[in-house]
Amino acid sequence: MGTAKYKRVVLKISGEAFRGGKEFGIDAAVTGGIAKQIKNVVEMGVGIAIVVGGGNIWRGAEAEKNGMDRVTADYAGMLATVINALSLQDMLEREGVTTRTQTAISIQQVAEPYIRRRAIRHLEKGRAVIFAAGTGNPYMTTDTAAALRAIEIEAEVLLMGKNNVDGIYNADPNKNRNAKKFDKLTYLEALNLRLEVMDSTALSLCLENNLPIIVFDIRAPRSIERAVIGEPIGTLVSSE
Ligand code: UDP
Repeated sequence: MGTAKYKRVVLKISGEAFRGGKEFGIDAAVTGGIAKQIKNVVEMGVGIAIVVGGGNIWRGAEAEKNGMDRVTADYAGMLATVINALSLQDMLEREGVTTRTQTAISIQQVAEPYIRRRAIRHLEKGRAVIFAAGTGNPYMTTDTAAALRAIEIEAEVLLMGKNNVDGIYNADPNKNRNAKKFDKLTYLEALNLRLEVMDSTALSLCLENNLPIIVFDIRAPRSIERAVIGEPIGTLVSSE
């Protein structure tokens, strides 16, 4: 086990990562593997807050295409992230990691409401914190929620865990064999690429607040730990 470069991090896990190899829903083996990785990071003394996506269950924009009211569809999407959060919470607790889930939409029988100072206190006590229900607002994404929460709790880095790509490329590597991977990019370069890997609202927030981002493949063994140690992994987006 290496020495952590960062003392406090936010990890974004996309819904796709929860889906793993399954067509729909949650792949227990993959989620369990992620929980084990998070445990190792907690044991390094790193404060880790996890923002969960929901795209494996529901995407507001897709429901809108089928005629659903967008705002209602987005609230359904936010609730989908709560399902992933509870699954991850359970996996973490099974690994022996004390975990608290906080939601941006109050569901008090199920989880705590999001309270910034309380979240920081949990981290200081060595608990893993899961942030669910995105920002609590429609027309937003969980990427934006991750950037926002990272800035709010003064995390030093935003770790974007992906399951379909291992960094940022100049074209979609799953469609274009000649796509080239970047080891590092500036915020402006990343914004100009109009990436699918992260939305521009989230990127702009990181730029304005100088929050470094690491985009990496969460399926790779020890990937979260490697990012936290500061080993070169995936693509680093920063001001330099
Ligand atoms: N969502 C939202 N506001 C937020 C975060 C999420 O309305 O702040 C909704 C939106 O409908 C989105 C869905 O929740 O499609 C799932 O989140 P997201 O697509 O960000 O998950 P991911 O792509 O990471 O799996």
